[in-house]
Amino acid sequence: MDPQLAEEFDSFEHSFKNIANRFRLVSKIGEGTFSSVYKAEDMEYDVFDNSWDLDRSPDGKRPLSTIDALSPIAKRQKKSCTSRRKKYVAIKRIYVTSSPQRILNELVLLHTLSKCDSIAPLVTAFRSQDQVVAILPYYKHADYRAFYRQLPLSEFKYYMKSLLTALENVHLNGILHRDVKPTNFLYDPEKRRGVLVDFGLAERESLDPSYCSCRGYGENNRIRHITDRQPTGGYLKNDPRPGRRANRAGTRGFRAPEVLLKCLNQTTKIDMWSAGVILLSFMSKRFPFFNSADDIDAMIEIASIFGKSKISSCARLHGSVFDTNIPTLPDRGFELEEIVDWALSGAEVDDESETSTRSHIDEDPETDLAFDFLTKCLEVDFRKRMSAEQALRHNFLAGI
Ligand code: ADP
Ligand code: MG
Repeated sequence: MDPQLAEEFDSFEHSFKNIANRFRLVSKIGEGTFSSVYKAEDMEYDVFDNSWDLDRSPDGKRPLSTIDALSPIAKRQKKSCTSRRKKYVAIKRIYVTSSPQRILNELVLLHTLSKCDSIAPLVTAFRSQDQVVAILPYYKHADYRAFYRQLPLSEFKYYMKSLLTALENVHLNGILHRDVKPTNFLYDPEKRRGVLVDFGLAERESLDPSYCSCRGYGENNRIRHITDRQPTGGYLKNDPRPGRRANRAGTRGFRAPEVLLKCLNQTTKIDMWSAGVILLSFMSKRFPFFNSADDIDAMIEIASIFGKSKISSCARLHGSVFDTNIPTLPDRGFELEEIVDWALSGAEVDDESETSTRSHIDEDPETDLAFDFLTKCLEVDFRKRMSAEQALRHNFLAGI
């Protein structure tokens, strides 16, 4: 084992009381902004009924339990270790810098969604002093970057169907995931199944998802991208009104326009935009598709596809003004077919995958359905954007 990893395992086992009594660390499988994730063998997995007792998970009212010195089940199973089938878990070690409220939110939402099989359920969670670990079943999965250029569209449909099934469940529970992207959707191309993970940024939807309160707020939110020093006129230099504060949590390149515009009443549709960005990346064989450094540049990227006029009305919908003097931004925008076609012809894709996708663009009815589906996910007006429920009924996903 890599000595650095061995040291990390040691320090984890020393600082988290009794963790080694129940879990045998195997490897490190993830390191995100908020946690490190390890693959481990669970020695207390109940071999007798072949399941975890999910109801022992925290409900937000009880304090998290610590791990027993050596529980009777672990003792029994340690003895019969050779005859037992191994069961692996993912231990999500949440960094101690995360606020208790944030950790509790993630655990409670995971617990709420534990019964959906397209979402990784929370097996249990433990606390040792200031450290908290969430225990999830381990899911074998492939890195998106390893397969998105190879899979044909007819296979990628399974990815989308699996992702949308997970999102439908999340949304029916009135929850916004807020961070839909390939690293948070663990997909196994062989099984054609995926599970949604990482509810660290998820939140409950506000009460009225059909209403956007931004307009009543006044048009005091300006999305400006002025590239030269010409006087632009019409705006106060030192606007005394406070800037608008809204939840912008999520990942660069996957944020919906209303998130970038600091909409105060964000809905589950923000996840549908992110699902659309994944499909766009697949269709165009570009990952990441959007690659801006900040929210303003992200609006420009979106405007260069959908056009100034659409983005301006979208901004108005959220009580904002979209203002730019970039002369090359189109007024009317492009069809997504054109964008994908452009991306494929400019992309350094290997000949085989390029020709197969391009010929699909020309003649395949499945590709037409995919573009219709994509256009309905990447609708800049969240009110017109397709829901997960509608997406699952779309003909693109029919018959699989
Ligand atoms: P973060 O909040 O730090 O992003 P995640 O929950 O997204 O943490 O997990 C980080 C990574 O760990 C994931 O991208 C994935 O590769 C791996 N991972 C997380 N949960 C599991 C799991 N249940 N099974 C297998 N791998 C997992
Ligand atoms: Mg993550």
